[in-house]
Amino acid sequence: MSADSEFAFELRVCQWAERAWPPGSGRERPVIVARQLGTERRRWDTIVLECDPEGLRSRANFGAEALDSDLLHVVRHAPAEWTWYRDCLPDPGYPWQYVREAVHRAGDRGIVETRKRANRIELRRKWPYPEWVDRIVAIENKPDLDASAADALADQLQRDVALSLSDEAWVATDPTTEGGRPTRALLEDIPVEAGILTVDGAGVGDVIWRPRTLPVEDPGTIIEERPDGGAHDASAARFDYADPEWKADKRREIAERAYERGWRAYADTMRPDCRHFRLRGAEWGVEPYCDAKECVPTAAECRGGCPSFSPEPPVWRTKAWPIEGGPGKGIKRLLDRQRRRHRPGL
Ligand code: SF4
Repeated sequence: MSADSEFAFELRVCQWAERAWPPGSGRERPVIVARQLGTERRRWDTIVLECDPEGLRSRANFGAEALDSDLLHVVRHAPAEWTWYRDCLPDPGYPWQYVREAVHRAGDRGIVETRKRANRIELRRKWPYPEWVDRIVAIENKPDLDASAADALADQLQRDVALSLSDEAWVATDPTTEGGRPTRALLEDIPVEAGILTVDGAGVGDVIWRPRTLPVEDPGTIIEERPDGGAHDASAARFDYADPEWKADKRREIAERAYERGWRAYADTMRPDCRHFRLRGAEWGVEPYCDAKECVPTAAECRGGCPSFSPEPPVWRTKAWPIEGGPGKGIKRLLDRQRRRHRPGL
């Protein structure tokens, strides 16, 4: 299967999850869907955040942009009353100078109040930072699950299960492809803790195997390296330990980036200002389409260096698009509006 159809499949899974998650039961919590997020070591294809409704609405107070780990450190511990920042924020384990910079950044973004008293920076909170995510679900998209894809995937999923950073781990396949209805032998390689589902060309999902809930609040194991299992491989596996606080921090950071980016951010790295670019209606929803290449382009090929790139003519920006800046900007605004619809209160 080509990279472009893998990308198209990923968008289809995201659209389906946004509409139909959780599979097989009614939605009780709002969800936020994002793609290509995770940690430095592991990036998940699709993630679904199952959110606390009140918490999600309160999160909107902090704006559409993600809060990075330094800003989270500030807003989570900002006190109700004016306090010198060193008296209210826990020792971060790195120089205080960086904390002070983060306090200034938080003040500039309007998410805490700051003032200077006797040469000391004081802060107080505007709103408590809510715990707005109940569960994080990671989905690995493999439209065509042949033997080598299943092998690589099994290894990744075993690592995901050992670390247990997400509450659930799933594999999504496309039942209309040859490998999309995986054989029993292939499925046996996938850890039993991982779920398996299919999403067809019409964007309809079906569960083949339900996952187990992973122990996100327990310590996790990071598998650094392990022997390949060959007859002559006597090397030892290397592991590291992930404590629950580290996991909780990572989950918050991932959730923050998901909140900002969602899954429609592809337009930010593609060229919607190319005259060949358009959004077209597919059976499952809306997808980017290139009229020159007659396919769903990947972000890697849809860029300024693309040999077929053709900028939208300036006249498009001066006639029907006097203020908005042309169809390319219009596409970005449309996707942004759709993203915001799932972030109540923004
Ligand atoms: S021609 Fe190239 S830059 Fe233009 S839409 Fe197609 S892939 Fe993107």
